Amino acid sequence: MAYLSTRGEAPEISFTEALLAGLAPDGGLYVPHKMPRLSRDAIAGFAGKPYVEVAEAVISPFLDGALGREDFRAMLEAAYETFRHKAVTPLAQIGDNLFVLELFHGPTLAFKDVAMQLLGRLMDRALKARNKRATIVGATSGDTGAAAIEAFRGLDQVDVFILYPHGRVSDVQRRQMTTVAAGNIHAIALEGTFDDAQAMLKSFFRDKPLREELGLSGVNSINFARVVAQMVYYFTSAAVLGGPLRKVSFTVPTGNFGDILAGFMAKQMGLPVEKLIVATNSNDILARALATGRYEVRGVHATQSPSMDIQVSSNFERLLFDALDRDPAAVRALMARLDQSGAFDIPRHALEKIRADFAAGSTDEAETSAEIGRVWRECEVLLDPHTAVAVHVARKNLAHDPATPMVALGTAHPAKFPDAVRAATGRSAPLPAHLADLFERKERFDVLPNDAGAVASFIRARARAVTEKHDG
Ligand SMILES: *Cc1c(COP(=O)(O)O)cnc(C)c1O
Repeated sequence: MAYLSTRGEAPEISFTEALLAGLAPDGGLYVPHKMPRLSRDAIAGFAGKPYVEVAEAVISPFLDGALGREDFRAMLEAAYETFRHKAVTPLAQIGDNLFVLELFHGPTLAFKDVAMQLLGRLMDRALKARNKRATIVGATSGDTGAAAIEAFRGLDQVDVFILYPHGRVSDVQRRQMTTVAAGNIHAIALEGTFDDAQAMLKSFFRDKPLREELGLSGVNSINFARVVAQMVYYFTSAAVLGGPLRKVSFTVPTGNFGDILAGFMAKQMGLPVEKLIVATNSNDILARALATGRYEVRGVHATQSPSMDIQVSSNFERLLFDALDRDPAAVRALMARLDQSGAFDIPRHALEKIRADFAAGSTDEAETSAEIGRVWRECEVLLDPHTAVAVHVARKNLAHDPATPMVALGTAHPAKFPDAVRAATGRSAPLPAHLADLFERKERFDVLPNDAGAVASFIRARARAVTEKHDG
């Protein structure tokens, strides 16, 4: 299957090429030429099947023969063996027709592991087959960096440099990035904000000589392989709740729009989904866009759900591409307006299409804390603040449509955000056994100035892709 850019000015490429490239050279995002479909019988057959089996059926059509069946199956087994729950992503009931899909049983306690564990293995394998090395540079507000480091540590073909804002991530998040003793992992505390780190990363990707010298590769949520891996749990959870015979709705705590986009793609593949509900904290650009049709960037507020403190939701471009009838010129025009003036208006017909599948809601800090407290009192379940944002928005929507099962996506383990959980409940969740000594482990990181030249030299001096080129 061929992949094309949402901006229409990059050549079509294969799955493996899209996997290794991340962003398209025209600034667009890769999407499949045509969305594969699963029959109703195939989806009905997912009930009671192990996660890995469903994953194979859902993801294989996108790979288009990049991997043999046996090989892919073994890769999936290895990726999801790292999860602490047999079901990989189990479902917990917390109210009438209200469920939490627990996506946080992976090694770094956030849903990013679901995709990253597979992505690391797919990339390593693709690079080995091409006898190539890559340098991954990532910017993180916490969860993506930890998940990437865990997925790529010790791999032969890849060096990983993660930029995080110095002093602005939680202790658990920082330690997950700085205590991994592997020679190919480099945690960089940047003297700046997350936005500075992301801007620097984008400047590296725009620098063609540097990009080629490093074999630069991206693992943030615009990488299409990540979105594909995230489709699987929409199918497994719907199967538990009676799908495809019964429609299900999902509420997704949203930042960069990658997770909920996976739900939309599951629907396009044939999964009967009633509504996909975008849940945001006070950084509510998406909720405002759905309500008014105007996508307008405002300042970022720091909240207790920091992984959703985002201004521009990159993956929204993939939804727009579809809603604009896959017209790349129309996407380019809107993105140019966003660059120039920080806002654009979604054309009427596109907005109506989006509203047919999506709804949205936002919560403030007090509502988030109250929701953590409520679920603790009613169910003795501790929610992390990101999950609580989703549960709060899910309840409001369930009130309008009580007959449709509502799944709120649980994106982080409560032990990852102990301060917010303790403030709301007076309790804290213990770290799982494999992280119990996290605070005794030795930390290793470099503090670098917010200066692209300095960071680039640091990376060039350590990336094996560079050394090899110089060796001939
Ligand atoms: C990344 C993240 C999100 C947001 O997911 P997107 O795919 O960026 O919308 C929500 N919650 C947690 C805990 C995260 O780490």
